[in-house]
Amino acid sequence: MGKIFLVGFGPGAAPQMTERARQAIDEAETVIGYSTYIQIVADQLKGKEVIKKGMTEELDRCVLAYEKALAGGKVALISSGDIGVYGMAGPMYEYLFEQGWQPGQGVEVEVVTGVTALCAAASLVGAPLTHDFCSISLSDLLTPWAVIAGRLEAAARADFVVALYNPKSGRRRGQIIEAARILLKYRSPQTPVAVVKSAYRPKERIVCSTLVELAEQEIGMLTTVLIGNSSSFIQQGLLVTPRGYANKYSAPGQLKAGEEAGKSLSLGLKSWPERLKKKLDQGQSPLQIAQGERLPLGEILFALEPAQSVPDPLAALQSALSQGGRLICMGRLKTSIPLAAQELAPQNPFCAIQIGSGHISLNTAQLAMAYQLGERLYWLDPQGEVLLAIAPGRAG
Ligand code: SAH
Repeated sequence: MGKIFLVGFGPGAAPQMTERARQAIDEAETVIGYSTYIQIVADQLKGKEVIKKGMTEELDRCVLAYEKALAGGKVALISSGDIGVYGMAGPMYEYLFEQGWQPGQGVEVEVVTGVTALCAAASLVGAPLTHDFCSISLSDLLTPWAVIAGRLEAAARADFVVALYNPKSGRRRGQIIEAARILLKYRSPQTPVAVVKSAYRPKERIVCSTLVELAEQEIGMLTTVLIGNSSSFIQQGLLVTPRGYANKYSAPGQLKAGEEAGKSLSLGLKSWPERLKKKLDQGQSPLQIAQGERLPLGEILFALEPAQSVPDPLAALQSALSQGGRLICMGRLKTSIPLAAQELAPQNPFCAIQIGSGHISLNTAQLAMAYQLGERLYWLDPQGEVLLAIAPGRAG
């Protein structure tokens, strides 16, 4: 039986290719790949059958590789970087499964890992990926823009260092502008970015800039963009992300009980609730704490020991409303609206809560959790975002 090697040859220069990638290409009788990839490994192709394919012929490459391997051939399907990162490894396995292929039976398959573009780019600009990062491809050819925009938003909100693959092409010019706009909602305009074009190739070009100026940079098909988090900085032309956030290590002279100078602060799972409790005791409301921590209220109430989960959120709402009270928040809006004692009549899935001469309409399908803290009750949606909160008090 034959074998398929799925080989990533790294960013494009021989020293960045792994030993195993070189072996796999040597071992293969047939090498299949996009024309520019074939050029990159040209010195290894003597005496081999070489099949060049265009960008749009991805499935053809898989079909051909499997045919050759079924006939007993050793085939290397090659791609730049790591073949499992926005590469052919996925489509190849999907095709194999469609054909009824199983691991360990028939054709052998080996994925040969390679240095992916974000690592290659990072190595050329300093140390931008030393803390949590994610990669997002801006190509909306196979992914709807709404999905990409949602991921940019989530990454920006969570302060990830972001690597952008496929930032721009001849036909896709606006995506990088939109990406910068979304990131700028959460990050400083001065956030450092690195624009790395053709890493480890003859036309390599590296520019360090800022998020606000990103869209003006020269960016193309072979560019990877690295965007720092809120702690990243540029010094001596190098983009560096510190390994932790400030105050991870206690400085001498600022030690609190139980801390040692230079030792990692224990901000672990156990001490986090204690810190929240301290904020509560200092008079911050759970909503204020959630805002400060940039987390949904549900995470705060879950972690705060004095808060109790209420088993049946809808029944709890019915019971709270039958007693009247004060509406103390609606979504993230702080309010102080008197509520008359009333019956909750759910008309699926909405129910009306009377307020003065009007009412608010609440989607009960969204009521996923409720928590009681002191005398206050909080209702949350499935993501833990607050829907409303009621405190007992004089009915209006
Ligand atoms: N499998 C590849 C990624 C393919 S997607 C890998 O793991 O690297 C193609 C995108 O990769 C390009 O649009 C660009 O963003 C990035 N890329 C690939 N080679 C690159 C290089 N030499 N320098 C900079 N970016 C590169």
